[in-house]
Amino acid sequence: MEYQAKELFAKHDVPVTLGIVANTPDEAQAAAEQLGVVVVKAQVKAGGRGKAGGVKLAKTPEEARAHAEAILGMEIKGLRVNRVLIAPAASIEEEYYFSFLLDRANRKYLCIASVEGGVEIEEVAKTNPEAVRQTPIDAGTGVDEAKAREIVADAKFPEALTEQAVQMVLALWKVFVEEDATLVEVNPLARLAGDKLEALDGKVSLDENAEFRHEDHQVFVIRDEEDPLEAQAKDKNLNYVKLDGSVGIIGNGAGLVMSTLDVVAYAGEKHGGVKPANFLDIGGGANAQVMADGLHVILGDEQVKAVFVNVFGGITACDEVANGIVGALDILGDEATKPLVVRLDGNNVDEGRRILNEAAHPLVTMVDTMDGAADKAAELANA
Ligand code: GDP
Ligand code: MN
Repeated sequence: MEYQAKELFAKHDVPVTLGIVANTPDEAQAAAEQLGVVVVKAQVKAGGRGKAGGVKLAKTPEEARAHAEAILGMEIKGLRVNRVLIAPAASIEEEYYFSFLLDRANRKYLCIASVEGGVEIEEVAKTNPEAVRQTPIDAGTGVDEAKAREIVADAKFPEALTEQAVQMVLALWKVFVEEDATLVEVNPLARLAGDKLEALDGKVSLDENAEFRHEDHQVFVIRDEEDPLEAQAKDKNLNYVKLDGSVGIIGNGAGLVMSTLDVVAYAGEKHGGVKPANFLDIGGGANAQVMADGLHVILGDEQVKAVFVNVFGGITACDEVANGIVGALDILGDEATKPLVVRLDGNNVDEGRRILNEAAHPLVTMVDTMDGAADKAAELANA
């Protein structure tokens, strides 16, 4: 969130004003009493808050309170606003755009800078592409002072701001590298009265693969902002992403699960347009407990009407997986109420199928092929 991004900016000497986070109108008013004229800013993990009415100027503490009352509880891009940032109002003269991001396709980092900021950069890229300057950055050499100067000159930041802009670019690069970010974005990067450059907004995406070396990033996790099912899955070390459809998906291996999503979406076209309800990779060791944990999360999703278990037996062979499914259904008992379509293939497939046949659980349908199973699961979800 913006206030968290700004904390990281401050840590690396990016010019920024932190402000005070408020969870209630009372707290907003109290903060404004300390800060004077303020902006009340919705804190959600989405851009376009200004346009949605989530950023409002308040001249008095009472006004700050009224804005907080209106903004708290508001929905922006489907996200509920649970807190606002009360920041001293800045006197803006110009708004710029600046970001560093990971450019996977080109195996590089990319810097995007524009003197036409404040608005959505995607729009500027369409209407005035020349104004959106892109500079590829080699991961080995990174951004040194010379590179920072090149970026600043290319973007045509005003001369009066050159030195500040160079320092800002270097500081943001430090945020990007030292915090292991995949995105650091400032929009607007503002020219304030008196030719002062400041980051008035901030957005940072952190690379989860680097979590192990950033104990301090734990403070950025806000439980009440997480999807409850995703939080539950995280507690169980499951790789789960909630989606919007009605066919629950469990598979082993990210690649298999990704293709399962595609196959189910395709099969769904013939069955009322049903779609996958989630991504869930239970990984290599699909024992009964892991399978039960996965099913528990998926069955907790009210939108789910049927579940597709798609497993390719490898090191964990199909018989173990089949035992896992049978065991999971035992563990879940009455909680298991939705039909399960199981497709097993790979190592020890015959024994796996025999185990499931013998258990003959009333909720389980076995289908031999992935396409056939996807079709069956879509049909059941649409029934
Ligand atoms: P976003 O819409 O979610 O990107 O939220 P921003 O933090 O970028 O705010 C949107 C717009 O509100 C900015 O582009 C500014 O024009 C304006 N704004 C934000 N903070 C201030 C401030 O302190 N003073 C003034 N006058 N305007 C502000
Ligand atoms: Mn912004």
